[in-house]
Amino acid sequence: MPHKLDKTDVAIIKSLMKDGRKSFREISRELSISTPTIKSRYQRLVNLGLIKSVSPIIDMKKIDKKIHKQISEDSVIKTPESHIQTGLAVNVNCDYCDGEITSQPKVLKFGRYERFFCCTSCRTLYKDKYGGRINSLSKQNLEK
Ligand SMILES: [Zn+2]
Repeated sequence: MPHKLDKTDVAIIKSLMKDGRKSFREISRELSISTPTIKSRYQRLVNLGLIKSVSPIIDMKKIDKKIHKQISEDSVIKTPESHIQTGLAVNVNCDYCDGEITSQPKVLKFGRYERFFCCTSCRTLYKDKYGGRINSLSKQNLEK
């Protein structure tokens, strides 16, 4: 007899299709269903073979084409995984001014988030602008 998905199964699948990085705890909070239920439902969907895997989606546009001149747009589209290797240069833009970060990025960590900046003044300006949001996201992480 086929296994019929219920509302909970569907909600978990849809949530993971949007962002597969979420923890069971985060899905639990989002759907107001207990973490053990999310875990066991997820495991069942895996055992049924419906969820084959949760894989990252890589943005190959982030690769520094000035450093990796041999990587053509065409080969990136056809064989993205063959380009993922040690030493690959990933371009990072400042999360405040959007300028390219050429030196060691200044990092701001809050909760599970990290933001990157070209200089300490961009980091300070970002903190001032998003202070409230950063505070609530940091607190959320402490509840984990
Ligand atoms: Zn900046």
